[in-house]
Amino acid sequence: MTSAMLGEFRPLVYRFQMGSFELTTILDGAQTRPGINPPFCIDQGAETIAAHAWANLLPADQFENTFTPTIVNTGKSLVLFDVGNGQMRRDAGAGYLRDRLSLAGYRPEDIDVVAFTHVHPDHIGGVREADAPAFPNARYVIGEVEFDEWSRGDRIPPQRSENRDMFLRLIVPLAENMTFLKPGDDVVAGIRAVEAFGHSLGHMAYLVESDGKAALIWGDVTNHYAFSLQKPEWQVAFDDDKERAIATRKRILDMAAADRLTIIGHHMPFPAVGYVENLNGAYRWLPASYQLRG
Ligand SMILES: [Zn+2]
Repeated sequence: MTSAMLGEFRPLVYRFQMGSFELTTILDGAQTRPGINPPFCIDQGAETIAAHAWANLLPADQFENTFTPTIVNTGKSLVLFDVGNGQMRRDAGAGYLRDRLSLAGYRPEDIDVVAFTHVHPDHIGGVREADAPAFPNARYVIGEVEFDEWSRGDRIPPQRSENRDMFLRLIVPLAENMTFLKPGDDVVAGIRAVEAFGHSLGHMAYLVESDGKAALIWGDVTNHYAFSLQKPEWQVAFDDDKERAIATRKRILDMAAADRLTIIGHHMPFPAVGYVENLNGAYRWLPASYQLRG
């Protein structure tokens, strides 16, 4: 007997327990984009890039960009980190976080806090839905430097001018209901902001700690598990301050490897949970297997 082909099937939600917290990652979407350079390896030659792609068993002429917001349930608060693309990319494979919340057992009204790593479009686009707040009961948290830099605008690169308009339209009106963090400040008890400036001028990572276990939500410290993570010094077009982004990438990768941190990365392959392995001085992304069970 023959069976019908059923088409691609990919998981959209992942959850694990860490101490007394539960962490859930949800795939907002995925987009295949032509080329590697740009956005990655923009200071490298085509042969180097092709060889690096080949060594990683990846195509040299395209890459897949995935977007994965994270929810932390501390037992007291439900905190959502970044809100995905929202309506703007819904006809292009992304923007499904809010729809997919129900697959994880949550409703938009359940979210108590929305914390932003930074304000690039794929991290803030989903903050409104049908001209209303997408998470109607949430208060908001953002890095103070990030909010101030985008508000002032004089150091925002010109290619981000549409992005700045989006910030002014979507984020500035939330300021009354927003907390502005310095590095080291808490989002809620057990979740602390970590300075990760460079990808955007005030980009934050967040360290989640419970019962002696820790995970780092690193946002966009690296945007690709091979092209940027393995070569932290290679320039990335997405980074607004490229030198600072490289320094931050190296510092956070060193910390992740040395402290054996569980990492959750917005653009790491879904479920976007893993580790940084330091293999004789070279970094590699190691997807989580059963380290998080029991
Ligand atoms: Zn991003």
